[in-house]
Amino acid sequence: MIAHLFNAPLGDGEAAVGVGTVGSSEAIMLAGLAFKRKWQNKMKELGKPYDKPNIVTGANVQVCWEKFARYFEVELKEVKLRDGYYVMDPEKAVEMVDENTICVAAILGSTLNGEFEDVQRLNELLLEKNKQTGWDTPIHVDAASGGFIAPFLYPELEWDFRLPLVKSINVSGHKYGLVYAGIGWVIWRNKQDLPDELVFHINYLGADQPTFTLNFSKGSSQVIAQYYQLIRLGHEGYQNIMENCQENAMVLKEGLEKTGKFNIVSKDTGVPLVAFSLKDNSRHNEFEVSEMLRRFGWIVPAYTMPPDAQHVTVLRVVIREDFSRTLAERLVLDIEKVLHELDTLPAKVTAKLTGNDENAHDVAVVKKTTREVQLEITAAWKKLVADRKRTNGVC
Ligand SMILES: *Cc1c(COP(=O)(O)O)cnc(C)c1O
Repeated sequence: MIAHLFNAPLGDGEAAVGVGTVGSSEAIMLAGLAFKRKWQNKMKELGKPYDKPNIVTGANVQVCWEKFARYFEVELKEVKLRDGYYVMDPEKAVEMVDENTICVAAILGSTLNGEFEDVQRLNELLLEKNKQTGWDTPIHVDAASGGFIAPFLYPELEWDFRLPLVKSINVSGHKYGLVYAGIGWVIWRNKQDLPDELVFHINYLGADQPTFTLNFSKGSSQVIAQYYQLIRLGHEGYQNIMENCQENAMVLKEGLEKTGKFNIVSKDTGVPLVAFSLKDNSRHNEFEVSEMLRRFGWIVPAYTMPPDAQHVTVLRVVIREDFSRTLAERLVLDIEKVLHELDTLPAKVTAKLTGNDENAHDVAVVKKTTREVQLEITAAWKKLVADRKRTNGVC
């Protein structure tokens, strides 16, 4: 089903293969291993050295790619970002490819701002380079978030097995696949793209069982849940949910734009999320906004971009199927409150701010210990629960 969703070729002698994993991280380890082994086998055949494999990615890759590189001893060659451009530049990526490159990994839905990398352009450029050099450097698409978005919202966008160099794709079932945590998938375009020597065949469970996972035993509940969601919701159901997420992301985006205080760093085409930064962070920065939003029950992370855009800090809100329009509107209101409150405070003294409204001004001089902050949060929750109990009684 998933291979089909990603347009795997289904002609004679063509059969995509794949495996369920714990998440995209494991899926990426397996895909990376397959590329490494394929490259090694090719280099051995050519009588060339095969001890210095590398992989080309953008500096915006998720940490699991760094894990793969370190655990499996592959040099990670990262294309640096730049101001206003927060994904891998396909031209620069292809420039970095050499004979030892096991694959170029593109991301469909960057973790940092949800943007889709231009896989089509990458495929074009790499085909050209392969033709010139005689290499056959392949592409992997990390579609952890975008794999369940693009097929439903942007079916015309070519990022998947429609592009000939795309040999494998991973996706997280527990992100927009709508399953609870613990499921990911990796699909290879063709059986030949997964070296047979990596697949173990065991017979002690009553039949020949091929296995290619890092772990052996694994619960089946997530696999069943994924299957259930796919057949219960169908193409139309997923499409409706993704459209809804996208619409709510737009409500949030427009609300934030209206405040006049933020630059939007995410794109309209991409994963339904809103990444934004303060137009003016000289008095108060994004970390302070994040910290203060916690008091309204929102956990909105703030983080700096990777090199060479590390001077940019963004806040990010990922819109899932349970994030309603009402919640989007409330978040905008709460952000406005936070901005207003920050404006009334002296600059740069609010980083440690976790106190309540009445003594907000005092906090500027009283630096609290972690323990004090914890006690305060506990007290606030107790009060909240007690207040709710009171009103519940009346209703
Ligand atoms: C979330 C994510 C991963 C890691 O996926 P898990 O399912 O959490 O292991 C990898 N790449 C990208 C782009 C992601 O967004």
